[in-house]
Amino acid sequence: MSGNIQAVRGMNDILPEETPYWRYLQRVWEEVLASYGYREIRLPILEKTELFKRSIGEVTDIVEKEMYTFIDRNGDSLTLRPEGTAGCVRAGIEHGLLYNQIQRLWYQGPMFRHERPQKGRYRQFHQLGVETFGMAGPDIDAELILLSARILERIGLADEIVLQINSLGSAESRTRYRELLVDYFSRHIDQLDEDSRRRLHTNPLRILDSKNPRMQGLIEEAPRMSEHLDDASKEHFERLLAYLYEAGIGYQVNPRLVRGLDYYNRTVFEWVTDRLGAQGTVCAGGRFDSLVGQLGGKPTPAAGFAMGIERLVALLMEDEKIAVPADRPQIYLVVVGEGAERAGMTIAERLRRALPGLRLQLNCGGGSFKSQLKRADRSGAEMALILGEDELVQESITIKPLRGGEQRRVVLDQLESCLMDFQFKE
Ligand code: ATP
Ligand code: MG
Repeated sequence: MSGNIQAVRGMNDILPEETPYWRYLQRVWEEVLASYGYREIRLPILEKTELFKRSIGEVTDIVEKEMYTFIDRNGDSLTLRPEGTAGCVRAGIEHGLLYNQIQRLWYQGPMFRHERPQKGRYRQFHQLGVETFGMAGPDIDAELILLSARILERIGLADEIVLQINSLGSAESRTRYRELLVDYFSRHIDQLDEDSRRRLHTNPLRILDSKNPRMQGLIEEAPRMSEHLDDASKEHFERLLAYLYEAGIGYQVNPRLVRGLDYYNRTVFEWVTDRLGAQGTVCAGGRFDSLVGQLGGKPTPAAGFAMGIERLVALLMEDEKIAVPADRPQIYLVVVGEGAERAGMTIAERLRRALPGLRLQLNCGGGSFKSQLKRADRSGAEMALILGEDELVQESITIKPLRGGEQRRVVLDQLESCLMDFQFKE
């Protein structure tokens, strides 16, 4: 067999032109998260399959048809994580981080779902996840929303996103609401698609989340959760909306917002843009007050959100107002001839030691003076340093600005101090 092996469908390479955007995003969120007092946690990519079944819910798209699950060499069923909350809660319980404590945590990394790949929807994608534990009130919900807004604002997206928000109430009020829904959808069973019929008695709330355009009318007419909320959840929601109003955060209450995972209760929210077509949700989250208990910990209130990094990168890269500099050297060191090649390596090391942070690329692999200068130019460097036989004999080096300016020769001993004085653009 010949032919090139290609990447797995829906799993992307992130090429050198794109990685600066990824690192830029990471710098922004690290700064913003630190400014709110959140700490990083790093979690494995593989977990026991059971963890996701018990948390996300057996009757959800993710668990029913999207997980990458396999039996490992010990015969254990393992799953590539489709999301991060379950693993975060698992780790929190396992290491005693949750009981009787307040935690503000974040993590980032790849998630895996066997979905139909399309723009903004991949099989390996990346999330920034933020989770809080031990705080039951609407203040932390508001903080999470403000924090996510701050990240989106910092990356220049504030004007292009809207906040959609809803309350799912308590488990008890949802049980009652569920009966109303089953009743309603049963009366219109002929209009339900196959998925929804299957879910009618296992997970009717999921039907509200259906993306099937033929069912939107039916869903629109369904009883509304907001009209069947328990009093405590209603009050929680009203207080949250008051916080948002105070903070000047605009929102749309969307009674159809239910989220694709079972563990949510009370507050759920999404930040949505219309600039990405159908895949417009860049951030989604809510409360999950029963999840810690469900996974075997002492009951602990919790809330969090996840951002889809690919979608943020896509928005950033399209936005001409936002300039993220490409990775490029500041200096390209041209070395012509064997003696210069050897001396060049030493000089390059000397400069990197003396000027940490300096980005210097040394010509390797030989080449004529002309071809090396071409490479220097293509590298995007601002300056070439030229070391030829002549410079070598005179223990000097030529400084050649590549974007305008006079070329000059300096003695090698003074090179560090010359470069220290030079104002590189970035
Ligand atoms: P969607 O409604 O778009 O399927 P979801 O409800 O499945 O999203 P979550 O599980 O809450 O999404 O994930 C949070 C965020 O992660 C989403 O808002 C989105 O930005 C991103 N995301 C989710 N699935 C994918 C995917 N397959 N590819 C790229 N990004 C994704
Ligand atoms: Mg989904």
